[in-house]
Amino acid sequence: MEQLKGIPVSPGIAIGEVHVWQAEEAFNVSLRYVQEEDIPKEITRFEDALTRTRAEILDIRKKIARQIGRESSDIFNAHLMILEDRTLIEDVIALIKGKKIICECAFATVIQRYFTAFSQIDDEYLRERISDIKDVGRRLLKNLYGEKGAPPKFKQKGIVVAHDLSPSDTAMMDKDKVIAFITEIGGPTSHTAILGQSMEIPVVVGLDHVTSKITTGDTIIVDGTHGIIIISPDKETIEEYARLQKRFTDRITQLDEKLRDLPAETTDGHRIHVAANIEFHDELPSVISHGADGIGLYRTEYIYMNRLDLPSEEEQFQAYRQVVEKMDPQPVVIRTLDLGGDKFLSSLDVAREMNPFLGWRAIRFCLTRVDVFKVQLRAILRASVYGRLKIMYPMISNVYELRRANEILEECGAELKKEGLPFNPDMEIGAMIEIPSAAIISEILAKEVQFFSIGTNDLIQYCLAVDRVNEKIAYLYEPTHPAIIKLIKLVVDNGHAQNRWVGTCGEMSADPAIAILLTGLGIDEISTSPFVLPKVKKAIRSVSYQDCKRIADRALTFQTGEEVRKFLDEELKRIASDLVEE
Ligand code: PEP
Ligand code: MG
Repeated sequence: MEQLKGIPVSPGIAIGEVHVWQAEEAFNVSLRYVQEEDIPKEITRFEDALTRTRAEILDIRKKIARQIGRESSDIFNAHLMILEDRTLIEDVIALIKGKKIICECAFATVIQRYFTAFSQIDDEYLRERISDIKDVGRRLLKNLYGEKGAPPKFKQKGIVVAHDLSPSDTAMMDKDKVIAFITEIGGPTSHTAILGQSMEIPVVVGLDHVTSKITTGDTIIVDGTHGIIIISPDKETIEEYARLQKRFTDRITQLDEKLRDLPAETTDGHRIHVAANIEFHDELPSVISHGADGIGLYRTEYIYMNRLDLPSEEEQFQAYRQVVEKMDPQPVVIRTLDLGGDKFLSSLDVAREMNPFLGWRAIRFCLTRVDVFKVQLRAILRASVYGRLKIMYPMISNVYELRRANEILEECGAELKKEGLPFNPDMEIGAMIEIPSAAIISEILAKEVQFFSIGTNDLIQYCLAVDRVNEKIAYLYEPTHPAIIKLIKLVVDNGHAQNRWVGTCGEMSADPAIAILLTGLGIDEISTSPFVLPKVKKAIRSVSYQDCKRIADRALTFQTGEEVRKFLDEELKRIASDLVEE
């Protein structure tokens, strides 16, 4: 039995068998078809990946020759020969054309045939060439995916253990089979962690070298509340954690049953809107069962992920309409495409950048690729007649972006009007405040919108200069840092001065103690992962608004994030001790 400590990012307990996600599985590609007219594009993608892989290998060969010697570098000649093998290339192209499948799939099928053929050869030298084929194959597939490889597949329920998982890998996971995941890298508010919360499963990140300590088939316990992993637990430990697991789920069920239909209202009658963050429309039953007052953040980028084409206006319209109709009369805030950072899309040929979180992303991308933006805006406008739909733009950093986005939205409205397609001309428009510059000029931005939604995940990242997906500096990622609290207060005050409502939609508001602080700072809506909403409601219902304001005023006087944290924990203990995590 061995215990490891990582960063807890999604609460709960899971006990089960491990499935170590390894590069080997890169060859386990899901079957996906392409339209006849896209076949040439697939072939070009394959040929481009061949060229890129070849360049990489030549580069490595050169480096090895320089550092170790020419003889050692010769092993890469075998890799180059595989890549240049005409039969292999022609077989892949024939499969793409014949079966109308994506090139990853065609390549993986052909390479699997090579493994089988080589493993049956009665010649040790040739059998050893299998590892060369695997190396080259993995490299080529990596270039095709543009990410770390294909998502894991399982036959039975299990815990995924990986060096890293991208949001697109995670989005493709079989939700019925994955009961937890743990990774070696990743920060507290990476989108992979957020997806774990949506899936309502425990997640722990930042577990150094965990993939070398666990093998597929091992039994482990994942405690996502405390960030603890127990490898090969004994019988007593399993029993103990099974009991804690039951208590965890029972508490959520009890809170759901008790609070589902009750408002998040303080003891002296101040009402806060508690809404849910979603990524997929199949999360709606969970949103409803946890008693959300609506959807405060619909992350639309997942509609664009894991596909080779862009979603059409009609497809997006249907998806948004479904959410809005189902939630009606509760409001739904749709966020326009927030591409970039740790979210990459295979359908858009966006080059990797040195600083993706600071790069050509979100609204910056949409304002340049107006063609892509307009498709989404038209779909959102068309869905607006089916309920209380609101729209917001991510990553606003100045007033031009906001004005330009609104101009394009207006253009889309005018087009729809001309085409006789209905939309709500009075749909509320909001700006996400997640860049310090936007918070500081929120007084100016408030004139252009009807509401603000403070994206604290990014606001913390940009304000404190802490990469939100980097486990090595996770200790600096402090939601209670005085700078963050002061910025939130500034945005609330500037919004309220112009009668704009102000919400938060970052993960920090999932913490009941912080929810009390936010209430005291004057926040009107808290939006977070659905399954933590009952706790947030319970916290707000246990305290007076008067008390919340006192807590916020006091929190603003501390000098360090640690002092604020300690103070808030003590207050929560006093207000609702049963919400304090043991
Ligand atoms: C945020 O930045 O706080 C936010 C809610 O958006 P995302 O996590 O998708 O970046
Ligand atoms: Mg954000």
